[in-house]
Amino acid sequence: MKAHTKENLPRILAWLDQTYGVEKKGFSWRSDWQLLAAIMLSAQSTDKQVEEAIPALFARFETAQSVAKAPVEEIESYIRSVGLYQTKARNLKKCCQRIVTEYHGAVPVTIEELLTLAGVGRKTATLFLADAYGIPGVTVDTHVFRIARRMGWAEGRNPAEVEQELMRVLPKDHWNRINFQLIYHGRAICTARRAKCSECALERWCEKNLEKQAAGEENVND
Ligand code: SF4
Repeated sequence: MKAHTKENLPRILAWLDQTYGVEKKGFSWRSDWQLLAAIMLSAQSTDKQVEEAIPALFARFETAQSVAKAPVEEIESYIRSVGLYQTKARNLKKCCQRIVTEYHGAVPVTIEELLTLAGVGRKTATLFLADAYGIPGVTVDTHVFRIARRMGWAEGRNPAEVEQELMRVLPKDHWNRINFQLIYHGRAICTARRAKCSECALERWCEKNLEKQAAGEENVND
């Protein structure tokens, strides 16, 4: 990370806190498995699609045991509003079966154990541990990956590399909120197809944009 990017980092983090808040807004859950299920359903789905599905899903399935015993077709019928619902229904059932047989019905709380569950990848596991237990972790999704590279915070070529870089660069107390803050910023301003640099309050501190300006270009639209 360049010296001026490091110097600007606290200003950017303060702006993100002020603009997008320090607490994630979202659905409520009553148990660990409900939180894990909601995060699993979120992949490749909008918040609205997930919010549509979970009240009835959670009313019918209060525990991992109840999902483990249910026919896949029944689980599917509750989550048709989300993307890839058939795959997710199969994963939910397999995941809950393992939670019941291996962990006595309680969702495990280490990243290594979570990664053994069907449909649970590193991003889901990190988010679950952060939201359920406040365990610090940087979750790198498509928005975090894109914006961290544009800002000059990371150069990694895949999410795992960017995750490691961000854990070195960001203060630990910011790890759990950088994900939702950059999701909001990525949806509104620093979008994938066209970064709206001229509307971005971070423009003066954004390394990639400063580099483009130095090269005589107006803004970053990679
Ligand atoms: S200045 Fe442009 S590239 Fe940098 S964060 Fe803002 S929108 Fe994204």
